[in-house]
Amino acid sequence: MNLQTSALAGSDRTALVAGGAGFLGSHLCEQLIRRGWRVIALDNLQTGSRGNLQRLTKETRFEFLEHDICEPLPPGLTADLVFNLACAASPPRYQADPVHTMMTCVVGTNHLLAFAEANRAGFVQASTSEIYGDPELHPQPEAYWGNVNCTGPRACYDEGKRAAEALCFDYLRHGRTDVRVARIFNTYGPRMQPDDGRIVSNLICQALAGKPLTIYGTGEQTRSFCYVSDLVDGLVRLATVADNPREPVNLGNPGEFTINELAALVLAMTRSTSRIVHEPLPQDDPRRRRPDVTRAKELLDWAPKIQLARGLPPTIAWFSRLIEAESRPAAARSPARTAGRVPTLAVASTANRRD
Ligand code: UDP
Repeated sequence: MNLQTSALAGSDRTALVAGGAGFLGSHLCEQLIRRGWRVIALDNLQTGSRGNLQRLTKETRFEFLEHDICEPLPPGLTADLVFNLACAASPPRYQADPVHTMMTCVVGTNHLLAFAEANRAGFVQASTSEIYGDPELHPQPEAYWGNVNCTGPRACYDEGKRAAEALCFDYLRHGRTDVRVARIFNTYGPRMQPDDGRIVSNLICQALAGKPLTIYGTGEQTRSFCYVSDLVDGLVRLATVADNPREPVNLGNPGEFTINELAALVLAMTRSTSRIVHEPLPQDDPRRRRPDVTRAKELLDWAPKIQLARGLPPTIAWFSRLIEAESRPAAARSPARTAGRVPTLAVASTANRRD
């Protein structure tokens, strides 16, 4: 079997995007449509929403199917390329139904891999920096095997994604599917959900609402934040590069910030006078995280372009518009917004959960 997918760099092909109504998935669908692809988005709407697909509803080359990848794929679908972005990614969301999270990663990924094999389609797996766990090596190169607690509350996601990578590389090694694996580091931007429970969405929503900013632990833990357009560019490059890297590729922005630094930036940019409150650090919360993106640079000629100070303003503007829309009477909201899942501005928290 020819595992080269250089032909996929062409247009007028069909991509199936699992998780296509999510934050990353919806941006990816738009990018693929812009590049001339036909796109089928699958999503169970657990964390995604039809509202995210608003810009695509009139697009004839776009189709949306509500479907949970834990179930066999609907009959009659064909595709040239599969992206697997289907999984809740924020700790409160993926821990809310941990068995479903694990099954999405393993059973769901297997359904998609088998579909790609049957269609002789390329396959891109959205893996995660979580596979490095609480890393002892810093920054994290792809060769690092990680430090994950396999019995903790994050294991459903971390170990689920590790198992999914194992599946992907077995399909690749056995010549069954042209699989490429992206390890995605913390990504942010417009269309994040206010109730997602992640640091960027929580801090911005709290600052805009004049509520205290919740910092878990001392706030000296670090993360590296990648703007969504950079991330989508990296995913498309990985999907279409002629030579399969045959190894995972980190995609993320190496700019590293403590949570305290991020909170200070958000306060300054929103001109908020909110105070900071400290809450307990969730169990197994990684102390630091920063991608080594040498491989992405070498193999994909990719590097993130948008630094945090440039990516935060459009993200803040997105949440401001949501808050404004929420404060308007329902009848005055746009039909598209009310047709989708209208995000509530409640902020989800894992701080005091030690399940
Ligand atoms: N965090 C925080 N306050 C919040 C939400 C998150 O201090 O309201 C912390 C969290 O404990 C972690 C970091 O911010 O150390 C990033 O959390 P997030 O859930 O965004 O992503 P992940 O831990 O999966 O990288």
